[in-house]
Amino acid sequence: MSTEDLGAAEDLGAGEPLLEFREVGVTYGANVPAVRGVSLRVAPGEVVGIAGESGCGKSTLASTVLRLQPASATVTGEVRFRGRNVVDLRWSEVRAMRWAGASMIFQGALHALNPVRRVGDQIAEAIKVHEKSVSSAEVEERVGRLLEEVGLAPGRAGQYPHQLSGGQRQRVMIAMALACGPELIIADEPTTALDVMVQEQVLSLLRDLVAQRNVSLVFISHDLLVLSSLCDRIAVMYAGRIVELAPAASVFGAARHPYSAALSAAFPRIGDPASRYAPAGLPGDPPVPAELPAGCAFAPRCSRRVSECDLVDPPLVSIADLASGSEVEVACLRPLPLVEETAR
Ligand code: ADP
Ligand code: MG
Repeated sequence: MSTEDLGAAEDLGAGEPLLEFREVGVTYGANVPAVRGVSLRVAPGEVVGIAGESGCGKSTLASTVLRLQPASATVTGEVRFRGRNVVDLRWSEVRAMRWAGASMIFQGALHALNPVRRVGDQIAEAIKVHEKSVSSAEVEERVGRLLEEVGLAPGRAGQYPHQLSGGQRQRVMIAMALACGPELIIADEPTTALDVMVQEQVLSLLRDLVAQRNVSLVFISHDLLVLSSLCDRIAVMYAGRIVELAPAASVFGAARHPYSAALSAAFPRIGDPASRYAPAGLPGDPPVPAELPAGCAFAPRCSRRVSECDLVDPPLVSIADLASGSEVEVACLRPLPLVEETAR
């Protein structure tokens, strides 16, 4: 396969995931296991959310897809994009994949964008890296169309990042992420820095674009309410592991893992941004990766803890969800029963 093939949209086999994490581990230095044994599949066109408080390993996991993790990180397992393990790719192959195969949107557009270059030039650069033969006039026209697609006037191309609002900068980031027609977009807390109104506008833009372009989206947020409005499925991470993986409505409305339930209770209250970070009724913080407890990492904060929880770190296993008819995966010795949720 040539390097170009990684950005090309050949058909995937039926049922083949576009992106697949297989038992992925990421350790910083010698003893900071930030991600531990994560397996997750993302289908073409699917929107998968990754939830969890700050420090749970969401960004670290996402960074492996485009090999953006720092040199101090050791990645084990497989990160397969279109069937190929990204961990083993040559750098030329990784570069060919960036923007064209998969692209990423980060939280702080002000930092992700170059402050001294016009935003139109930055979008144009992403196109030119991958399509060397395309003329300048054509690139300019495409930049204009991309800006329109994300709800900005084409004239914005001539402006610098500081001349735009936070929401407009995030729209520019989305335009850049779309520029080379990727099959996968990874958005890492893209709306967290925005106020609630602007956040809703950017989310609705993303929702429309993903549907129109049939692109897969991995959307990372600590905010389950945001994820439930956008995603097909949600993976809840805690201390580097997935503790619950289920259809979005099931995770938000009928969580089975006590941690997901605590996160669901913590949806943002308008006018109180701090409340998003402090799940109601869930005191304390996630453990630091270098000092994980012996059993379940969530046990010290868990209201359903029994003595066995301090000894056994439960694997992620399927349990039937009779209400939705779908499979739910939970890593818990005492998952919440469905009856508690439906008997309200
Ligand atoms: P999240 O995105 O869920 O907030 P991160 O992936 O950023 O979580 O971090 C997971 C853990 O890895 C945290 O304990 C964090 O302190 C640690 N970590 C993140 N980046 C580095 C790094 N470059 N070097 C060492 N530890 C890191
Ligand atoms: Mg993060």
